Amino acid sequence: MPPTSKTSWQRTLATLAVVLALALLAGLAIGQPWPALALAALALLAVHLLRLRRIMGMIDARMRLPPPPAGGGGAWAGMERLLHRARHEVGGRERRLVEMMRAYRAVAIALPDALVVVDRNTQRVIWCNAAADRLLGLDYPRDKGASLCERLQPLPLAHWLSAGRHAEPIIDAASPADPAIRISLRLIPYSDALWLLVARDVGKLMRLEKMRRDFVANVSHELRTPLTVIHGYLDMLEPDETSDWEPIISEMRRQSQRMTQLVEDLLTLSRLEAQDTIEEDGVAMSPMLATLRREAGALSQGRHDVTVEDTAGVDLRGSTRELHSAFSNLVANAIRYTPSGGRIAVRFAPAEDGGAVLSVEDSGYGIPEPHIARLTERFYRVSSSRTRETGGTGLGLAIVKHVLQLHQARLDIASEVGRGSIFSCHFGPGRIIDRLDDPHEEPHDQTHTGESA
Ligand code: ADP
Repeated sequence: MPPTSKTSWQRTLATLAVVLALALLAGLAIGQPWPALALAALALLAVHLLRLRRIMGMIDARMRLPPPPAGGGGAWAGMERLLHRARHEVGGRERRLVEMMRAYRAVAIALPDALVVVDRNTQRVIWCNAAADRLLGLDYPRDKGASLCERLQPLPLAHWLSAGRHAEPIIDAASPADPAIRISLRLIPYSDALWLLVARDVGKLMRLEKMRRDFVANVSHELRTPLTVIHGYLDMLEPDETSDWEPIISEMRRQSQRMTQLVEDLLTLSRLEAQDTIEEDGVAMSPMLATLRREAGALSQGRHDVTVEDTAGVDLRGSTRELHSAFSNLVANAIRYTPSGGRIAVRFAPAEDGGAVLSVEDSGYGIPEPHIARLTERFYRVSSSRTRETGGTGLGLAIVKHVLQLHQARLDIASEVGRGSIFSCHFGPGRIIDRLDDPHEEPHDQTHTGESA
């Protein structure tokens, strides 16, 4: 007990003792000690009850307690002092908390990104910051309690919100407030009951990205003509087989061929990147597989055992040209990264989800695990010397990834060093159409080409 409380208690007990002693003396003087003592005790009780009522009233009314004089007074004064101190401390803590909350809110309000706190169950707006007005057209408190999907109408949010924690960020969409503003959206479930929707202006990023794309496309385009001229003149040169120039000219031809391929691949990538959608033709898979088999045979020159299996019996919806470019890239890689005598299997099979999978399996060199995730990056190579040997540009798998993205399909890569690799293109059920069978076409199931070396 603090010393002030102790002295207050002592003072109260001393007052009690003095009053009772005086009452006893007065009682003895008049010959009625007990009634006098009882009266004095009752009076003391009444005084204490009154003080108790006063303090309870103050606490009940949440009145500001006047700071009691320090030190003096009895137990009740001590009690008032303690209460005053506790109130003072709680008040200070509350003030600090409020200041902290105001500071956090000021930061959230000042952020250039739109922040919207959403009730997870009802998907209604609880709070949003100032940037939400510019980027999403939401205003607080006007839109408090509004349904998020309804307020951000042109954005297809219903499906996205239902995915909740697993919702992939929307990378680029037009703002519902102003279609000229491009935004990205991300959903952060930060508690059991609340989500935070974060929208960011990505216009500048998109413009930079477009500048980069245009730059690469323009440079590639500009390189095309001089390369064609160089290539043409190199083709016209016919050095004597035995002349010193023969190996030099052969190497120059090879390199100019490689550069032409690079430029063509860069132009293909730029074209694919600039597209948001793809033509929605029917892609006849029987002729497609036949073409792949022919191309594989031409590339392999009989050095590999190539099989083509078709157990899916369906066609795809999409662009025949782009899908052919993706599939033939995978087949060309399988041939290039499989030594002579290896096996290449191209399979078109049904998938469990009702879609279909086109896979290209080889028994080649395989790819070490750490490289697999990065293979679809431009110019990423596991071994640059091997790529140079095989004449690759380093852009093939980047093209495959883009083509598949445009078809909402995904590329899976499984590989084991020394045993081979499987590259699988998964098409969802939405991309499947019934096959319009050509009665004159021979079935392609289990077709072989080339021969085991
Ligand atoms: P490249 O023109 O170099 O082949 P790609 O983008 O097609 O470029 O492939 C990237 C890299 O992935 C290649 O350099 C190669 O190292 C590796 N790779 C691709 N396909 C295979 C495969 N079937 N087997 C082994 N490695 C492969």
